Amino acid sequence: MYWAKFVGLMRSASGRGLGGGAKSMLQFGANILNGNANLGSAPISNQPQIWLFVVFITVFLRYCTPVQPYYTMQLFSIETGNFKLDGGAMFGVVPKSIWQRLNPADENNMCSWAMRCLLAIDGNRAMLIDSGIGDKQSAKFFGFYYLHGDHSLRASLATHSIAFDDVAINFLTHLHFDHVGGSVVSDGNGGYRPTFANATYVSNAAHWQWATEPNPREKASFLKENILPIQQASQLNLLDTPSSGLLDANHVWPGMQVYVVNGHTEQMMIPILPYKGRKVAFVADLLPSSGHIPLPYIMAYDMRPLLTLQEKADFLGLAVTNNWVLMFEHDPVVECATLVQTETGIKIDQTFKLSEL
Ligand SMILES: [Zn+2]
Repeated sequence: MYWAKFVGLMRSASGRGLGGGAKSMLQFGANILNGNANLGSAPISNQPQIWLFVVFITVFLRYCTPVQPYYTMQLFSIETGNFKLDGGAMFGVVPKSIWQRLNPADENNMCSWAMRCLLAIDGNRAMLIDSGIGDKQSAKFFGFYYLHGDHSLRASLATHSIAFDDVAINFLTHLHFDHVGGSVVSDGNGGYRPTFANATYVSNAAHWQWATEPNPREKASFLKENILPIQQASQLNLLDTPSSGLLDANHVWPGMQVYVVNGHTEQMMIPILPYKGRKVAFVADLLPSSGHIPLPYIMAYDMRPLLTLQEKADFLGLAVTNNWVLMFEHDPVVECATLVQTETGIKIDQTFKLSEL
């Protein structure tokens, strides 16, 4: 498509008020690209039009094509293992007769959910978004969550030759235990230390205060041992976020934007990264799975469900308009999806793995 546009551009430029030399060179270039140029029998090196055309192409590519400074960045899905949560809690007011088709429950009404993270590598810098549940809590604690699956944070990072000490940024969408648990480990002496010794941990000031002074309903999700050791190690960078909406976070990571929402918890951050000419939004607990696209499908865990409803409508509208790729943190099957507007609302268009983008 771009090729045809480019040839068309050259043709139209050659037909406008340019000098004779430029006109013929552009027309000549268009003919080359279409494969019908008459190159004659003289050596190519003796044909000035060829050299003019080469110079034109070079200048065009350098100054006239869209700048893509992030072409070196790579994104990878990082599986850290699955856990189980009550299906009713995950789908809120939606009855089980409907949601069990989306994620079948076991005999205790528990469904399997992924704890998927996103790894961005740009040159020799690595940013990990969220970190899963970790491994430092007691057997009793983990007994509530039925950890299963073959994946671990360490092994999944190693697949991409990233060790814990290589992580430069650990961006935390929010501080619930299933998103930040892997960010802090036991130090072997009864205390805790950051998992990523060389990383800056990114949260935001409003959410940090909310998590460290938790309300009684949300308190069980904010575990002090997941949070305080980051600050004690002086590895914390608290962003000054707007109360809601889109923030340019280019200073954190090249090209990154952050979409701030408040329905699930105070100032949860949805990172949006440029990738292969698209934008990938890591949607955290705004849309925990592909089954949560319909507006009323809201987790009972959310602090402000009616606000989530509005935030979902706003975010999905932006996502469909801009053709964003959504990446789901908790969907046990679907990693990524695109959306489509239909007469009955926004729906999933295509699903795929991030590696297939
Ligand atoms: Zn959460």
